[in-house]
Amino acid sequence: SSSIFAAVEMAPRDPILGLNEAFNADTRATKVNLGVGVYFDDNGKIPLLAAVKAAEEARLKAAPPRGYQPIEGPAAYNNAVQNLLFGKDSALLANGQVVTVEALGGTGALKIGADYLKRLNPAAKVYISDPSWENHRALFESAGFVVDNYAYYDGATRGVNFDGMKASLKAMAPGSIVVLHACCHNPTGADLSDAQWAEVVELCQAGGLVPFLDMAYQGFAEGIDADAVAVRAFSASGLQFFASSSFSKNFSLYGERVGALSIVTANKDEAARVLSQVKRVIRTNYSNPPIHGGALVAAVLSSPELRAMWEEELAGMRDRIRAMRTGLVDAIKAAGVTQDFSFVVKQRGMFSYTGLSAAQVEQLKSDFGIYAVSTGRICLAALNTKNIGYVADAIAKVL
Ligand code: PLP
Repeated sequence: SSSIFAAVEMAPRDPILGLNEAFNADTRATKVNLGVGVYFDDNGKIPLLAAVKAAEEARLKAAPPRGYQPIEGPAAYNNAVQNLLFGKDSALLANGQVVTVEALGGTGALKIGADYLKRLNPAAKVYISDPSWENHRALFESAGFVVDNYAYYDGATRGVNFDGMKASLKAMAPGSIVVLHACCHNPTGADLSDAQWAEVVELCQAGGLVPFLDMAYQGFAEGIDADAVAVRAFSASGLQFFASSSFSKNFSLYGERVGALSIVTANKDEAARVLSQVKRVIRTNYSNPPIHGGALVAAVLSSPELRAMWEEELAGMRDRIRAMRTGLVDAIKAAGVTQDFSFVVKQRGMFSYTGLSAAQVEQLKSDFGIYAVSTGRICLAALNTKNIGYVADAIAKVL
């Protein structure tokens, strides 16, 4: 008798995971993995933040029971998320207009938001930036939406094609969902200026669009509040919008899966009704979120001492990435390259679109054991004081 799985096809491999497998199998001692979107310290290790460690030790010592959590997650956690995103003096928060639910990382928040939007407005079309984090498309498609691109990256300036982006926004039908990277655009590192955000807010308002801000790197560009510029601009506009957020990077809690979905509604009464519907989405997916990661984040953010410690450690990660940006540009120049790489310093967050071709990326791998995504995206947070010279020299040789 034939298996019910006999006709199942092999799904395409995740490009980044495939890269990791190849990297792990490489026996060269000098190998460098610039592919993954993870922050490593100067020793090439994923840090366990001291603030997280302190909160974790206190928690383990208290040995709390492991009952079910509320469907939307604990209030202490959700309030802490809201303060980070909207600012503790936010009028929206004071009015009770914002619904926030804990989610399984930024990905989980996007998925809950997408599933809820599909119930709210099933006919809407979703637009993501060209290019975007590769999971955005798959995620909204799996929620049942048709997903299209809006113009975003300008290969000539290695910055944002803002005229193109505005034209795309103007062409969208009312009710369209626009996924916007709140800061530290993945994969390009090219962000909007504050003035450009103000224009995007106006266009979303004029076009009746539904903004969905994806905030995966708060604190990695300039600081906690500075990086929330998009959230704050939309907050001041009176528009309704969605925001997914993640503590994977800024708390270095990747595997704990800690994130949140926030939805700005028109008033407190709407917020209560929207929350009741979002809870149905969560209830039928995984019932309620796990305890540990969110408890650590809430403990850190509610203790003045631990919060100060976290902010200092976050600034350390941010400064180290910036030092790697400057260092890489300088080292490529020192290697005799005349081509201008100064755009790497202007780009923000963990990534840079280097402009390296797929063939050059391939040569970096075969000749030097340096692994990057074929689009030329590199993760600056994988560079350190030991490997940066080697990487710069290799880039100089493949150019
Ligand atoms: N959104 C963007 C733009 C990202 O780059 C990432 C992670 O790489 C995520 C969302 C997902 O974050 P998480 O690992 O918390 O699910």
